[in-house]
Amino acid sequence: MYLKGVGPQRAAKLAERGICTVEDLLGYLPFRYEDRIHFAAIRDVRPGGTYVVQAKVESGGAVRYARSPFRQRDAVYHLLVSDSTGALHCKFFHGGYLEGRLKAGQRLVLYGKAEMDPIRPSRLEMINPQFELLGEDSADSTEVGRIVPIYEATAGISSRQLRRMIHAALSNLSETLPDPLPPALLGRHGFPTRHRAIAAVHFPDASEPLEALNTFRTPAHQRLIFEEFFFYQLGVALRRQQTRHQTGIAFRVREERIREALKRILPFKPTEAQKRVLAEIAADLEQPVPMNRLLEGDVGSGKTIVALEAAAIVIENGYQAALMAPTEILAVQHFLSARRIFAHAGYSVELLISGLKPSEKKAARERVRKGETQLVVGTHALIEEEVAFARLGLVIVDEQHRFGVMQRKRLIEKGAQPDVLVMTATPIPRTLAMTLYGDLDVSVIDQLPPGRTPVETRWTSVEHLPGVWEFLRREVMAGRQAYVVYPVIEESKQELKAAIVEYERLAKQVLPRLKLGLLHGRLRSEEKEGVMERFRRGEIQVLVSTTVIEVGVDVPNATVMVIEHADRFGLAQLHQLRGRIGRGAEQSHCILVAPKKLTEEAQTRLETMARTSNGFEIAEIDLKLRGPGEFFGTRQHGELGFHIANPLRDRELLELARREALAMVEDSAQEREVQRLLEYLGPQWQRRYVLATVG
Ligand code: ADP
Ligand code: MG
Repeated sequence: MYLKGVGPQRAAKLAERGICTVEDLLGYLPFRYEDRIHFAAIRDVRPGGTYVVQAKVESGGAVRYARSPFRQRDAVYHLLVSDSTGALHCKFFHGGYLEGRLKAGQRLVLYGKAEMDPIRPSRLEMINPQFELLGEDSADSTEVGRIVPIYEATAGISSRQLRRMIHAALSNLSETLPDPLPPALLGRHGFPTRHRAIAAVHFPDASEPLEALNTFRTPAHQRLIFEEFFFYQLGVALRRQQTRHQTGIAFRVREERIREALKRILPFKPTEAQKRVLAEIAADLEQPVPMNRLLEGDVGSGKTIVALEAAAIVIENGYQAALMAPTEILAVQHFLSARRIFAHAGYSVELLISGLKPSEKKAARERVRKGETQLVVGTHALIEEEVAFARLGLVIVDEQHRFGVMQRKRLIEKGAQPDVLVMTATPIPRTLAMTLYGDLDVSVIDQLPPGRTPVETRWTSVEHLPGVWEFLRREVMAGRQAYVVYPVIEESKQELKAAIVEYERLAKQVLPRLKLGLLHGRLRSEEKEGVMERFRRGEIQVLVSTTVIEVGVDVPNATVMVIEHADRFGLAQLHQLRGRIGRGAEQSHCILVAPKKLTEEAQTRLETMARTSNGFEIAEIDLKLRGPGEFFGTRQHGELGFHIANPLRDRELLELARREALAMVEDSAQEREVQRLLEYLGPQWQRRYVLATVG
C-alpha cells in the first residue's frame, strides 16, 4: 500500500490475486520482453514481420457497422500513427472502447505483426497490435531506451502500471533479498544470486539477447526456474530417504513353489519387456521397504498380466492384493481375466464396485475383511470407509492418472506399508513422470506382444461417411467387430452427433442387417456389463459407444473403430480409444471422421494420429499442444504450484535440480543446511511436502 504507485485501492486489487507483499510483487514475472532501444523505423516495416515501433498518433476513429448484429461490439477502430520515416495504419477489431482515448500527438509504442491490407494491396497495416501509451515525461526510464518487460495485466492493473510498481519496489529495497540457495551450489552452475536474478528478469541488461529473454533462458531465468524445481525435488528426496527407513513387507520371491505358481498362471509367453519389468517389480517386493513403482506401457503392451503376476507373488506369501480401476467396465474386465487366470492357482478373486446390490457388497466386504479374498478388483468403491483388509500387501492402481493423489493415498492406508504399483497407459516422458510422481521408480514396457499388426489410421471428412459405413459392413461380414464412437450421449445444442440418436439411426437405416449394441456412462452397471459381455462373446457386432470404452477394454476380435467428431477429442484420448483395436493379428482400421474445416490444432491432432501410433511420441505432441497443466489434469498441476518453471520446457533444469537435491539430502554433513532450507520455506513447504510424500 505504501509503495509508490500502489495505494490502498490497488493494494486491495493485487491482494485478490495473491500479491500481498513486496516479495509477492517481485515474484510476478514478465511473460515477454520488448526491445525498446532499437525500434523499427516504419519505413523498414515489411509484411509478415513482427515489429516494435515507437510512434505518435496522427488520427483515429471508430467505424461502426450499423447493420451488424453485434452493433456496438463490432466497431473497428482505425488508427494512423507516424514516426520520422513514415506512417502506419492500424486496425483494432471490437475497438469501440478506444474512441476518445487516443489523442493526436500522443506518443506510444506498438507491437504487432505487419500485413498487407487485403483491400488496398499497397498499404501495410497492423491488426490488433498491442500498444502502450508513453508518459508525458519522456524521461521515464521504465518505458523506453531499454529492454522492457511486459506483464500480464492482472486485476485491472495494466502491464505498464505493474512495471512501474515493480521498478519502485526494486529501487526501494534497502537490503539485498535473502538467498536460500547455498553459495556453493550457485557457484557450481554459474547461477546469479536471488537478488540479482529477480532484478534481471524484471529489468534486464541491454546486452541480454532478446531471444534468450523471451524463451526464459537467461541465467536469471534459469536460476529462478531451478529454484522452484529444487525445492520440489528436495521434498521428493526427503521422502525417499524417509521411506528407506520404513519397514515394508519383504516378500519371498525366489522359492521354487512361487516360481512354479507364477509359471502356472501365465497364459502366454511374456515379451522380453514384460519379463524385465516383472523382474524389477519382484526385486522391489523382495526388499523390506515398500515398493513405489510406476509401470508405464503403451496401450496394449500387456501391463495387466504383469500386475497379476505381482499379485500372485504377494498372494503366495499369504497377503492380499487390491487392484483399483477408474471405471466399472474396466474393473469388471480385470475381474474376469483375473478370475480366469487365477483359476489354475485356486486364488479367490472378488469384485467390488458400487453397482453391486447392497447385500452382495456387504458380503464381499466381509470376505475381504476376513482375509478369505486374495485379490479384490474394484473401482472407487475400494476406498470407501467400510472397506477393510485382513492383510493388504499390494496395491495396484490401473490408469492411475484418472485418480487424484489423495484417492491413491486412501487405498494405500488400508494396509500397513503395502507395496504400491501404479500403471498408466498415457505414456509420460520420464522426466515428467519424475516431477509428477516424485520418488516413484519407473518401469517401462516398451514392446508390444508379438503378432500385432499396426493399426491403419485414416482421417476423412463427413461427406465420405457412406463409404465408411460400407467399409465397416464388409469387415463385420468378414467376421470382425467394430466400435463406433461419439463424443456425447444425448443430442445437444452444439449439433454434435449423439450416441443414442446415432445408434437408432445406424440400427434402422444404415446397418440394418448387423447386430448393434449401445454403451454409455448413464446405463446402470449391470446393463453396461450385459452389453460388454455380449460384445465380448460376439453377439454384438457393432458397439456404438461414448468414451466409456476409452480405457482398458480388451476385445481382440474388434478391428474397426470409427470415431465421429474426431476433432472434438484430445490427442491422448484418441490414442487411448484407438488402443481398443489392433489387439489381434488381423489388420485393424481406425477411421477418424471430422468436418472439412478444422482449426490448426485439430488438424495437427488428426495428422499425428494418422502418422504414428507411438504413444510416447503422441504424448509429447499432446504436451506441446495442450501444455503440461492439461496433461496432468488441472488438479494435479495446480497441486504442483510452479510459477515460472515448466517441466516440459525446462527438463534439463529439472534433472539438475533432482540430482542436486538428492545429493544434498544424502550428504549427512548437510543436514543442518537442509533444516535451514525447510525453515526458510515455512508453510509453503508444508504444502509441497505433503504432495511429495504421497508420490
Ligand atoms: P494394457 O497394457 O493396455 O493394459 P493389456 O494388459 O490389456 O494391455 O493387454 C493387451 C492384450 O494383449 C490382452 O489381450 C493380453 O491378453 C494380450 N497380451 C499381453 N501380453 C501378451 C503376450 N506376452 N503375448 C500375447 N498376448 C499378450
Ligand atoms: Mg490396461
